[in-house]
Amino acid sequence: MSGTLVIGGGQAAAQLAISLRADGYVAPVRILGQEVELPYQRPPLSKGFLKQETTEAQLELRPADFWSAQRIEIMRDMQAISIDRDLKRVTCADGSQWFYDHLVLATGSRNRPLSLEGHNADGVYALRSLEDARRLREAFASARHIVVIGGGFIGLEFAAVARKLGRAVTIIEMADRLMARAVGAQISDWYLRLHAGHGTDVRLGSGVKALEVKAGRIVGVTLADGTALPCDLLVYGIGAMANLEIARACGLETGAGIRVDAFMQSADPQVLAIGDCAEAPSKYFHAGAFVRLESVQNAVDQAKCAARTISGARQAFDVVPWFWTDQFEAKLQIAGLSAGASQQVIRGTPESGRFSVFYFMGDKLIAVDSVNMAADHLLARRLLAGGRAITPQQAGDLATDLKTLL
Ligand SMILES: Cc1cc2nc3c(=O)[nH]c(=O)nc-3n(C[C@H](O)[C@H](O)[C@H](O)COP(=O)(O)OP(=O)(O)OC[C@H]3O[C@@H](n4cnc5c(N)ncnc54)[C@H](O)[C@@H]3O)c2cc1C
Repeated sequence: MSGTLVIGGGQAAAQLAISLRADGYVAPVRILGQEVELPYQRPPLSKGFLKQETTEAQLELRPADFWSAQRIEIMRDMQAISIDRDLKRVTCADGSQWFYDHLVLATGSRNRPLSLEGHNADGVYALRSLEDARRLREAFASARHIVVIGGGFIGLEFAAVARKLGRAVTIIEMADRLMARAVGAQISDWYLRLHAGHGTDVRLGSGVKALEVKAGRIVGVTLADGTALPCDLLVYGIGAMANLEIARACGLETGAGIRVDAFMQSADPQVLAIGDCAEAPSKYFHAGAFVRLESVQNAVDQAKCAARTISGARQAFDVVPWFWTDQFEAKLQIAGLSAGASQQVIRGTPESGRFSVFYFMGDKLIAVDSVNMAADHLLARRLLAGGRAITPQQAGDLATDLKTLL
């Protein structure tokens, strides 16, 4: 019996292995991960780890002895390079070959590269792995003029930490608002005021034309409008894309991610995909369209679903997507997916720093973004999961107790 083989050693892979054992699966479980660390959490890399508040040991999803006690074999520094689905065999870069009964692809995503001359100069960073975070943290200690390209979650979290630690920070965002792909305009505007209020220079509708490099180091950035900015540390966060090449090469269907059904199975039922690299149908996205999500919750819940598929207790995936981001003193919690909303209603007062935005498509609630309103967020997840009816008027009226709608 070959058992379950997982490619990728991150959040989804770790959860899959943990859930298989918790579900009573006794066959071998083996993880092939290309990083040298044991599975670790990425969210603190752009938050507490940079501030030296989170240690490397605290990033670990489980200590080393947990994996051995659970008979979960973690092969580190091991890159899978090809899959033979007929032989049910994976080949790694070191020539080793591994057989499987079930194969789970949990290869995650990688940063979209910066296509500017000088992108590999000293002082230019992207943030994805612990190794990236270690190098960035070291460079950060002596940096004075920081430029962040990209006003998405990772760029803004990094910018908030940098500003809080007293560095001059400029954010360059091509769109006309922050986090535009994930949140509505009211949330974007509130976050613009938050960052600007802390003294960050936020430039919307702006692009970088060139990087100025001297003796191999970044020293400046020239914007599309000709403005020259000093820069001794540049961080870019301009989106991510799924690591799906290995799946495509063995003939599996791919879109933005590796295509799977509600049980996380590809068209080959012995091969599953989960987490950032997978694209699954979601009733919370345009009533059942395929969607690829990048979040801890998605990685964890898809891993639990895949574990049930493998261990025989099949249960279709049906979980409200949720996400969080921490920037300065604000925690933004997102429930559901707001893309395509036709109406947005504010509950509470943005000026107070605690409010939510309810998103409707027609008369249907599709998402809720909450700023420093954990109670609204938890209720929103329950409202969305239950498909509860709530009108825009009720959402905006603080006199309506949301609990009574559950
Ligand atoms: C800086 C940062 C901050 C984040 N903050 C948040 C947050 O606040 N909230 C939130 O919900 N989410 C956050 N995320 C996203 C979250 O971390 C990811 O969605 C989650 O880690 C996805 O889990 P995964 O297992 O799919 O991918 P990953 O955790 O990325 O793991 C994939 C692993 O597979 C490995 N791999 C790829 N190809 C191969 C191969 N061929 N062979 C072997 N190994 C391979 C990769 O090297 C990687 O180690 C953040 C991400 C980053 C980078």
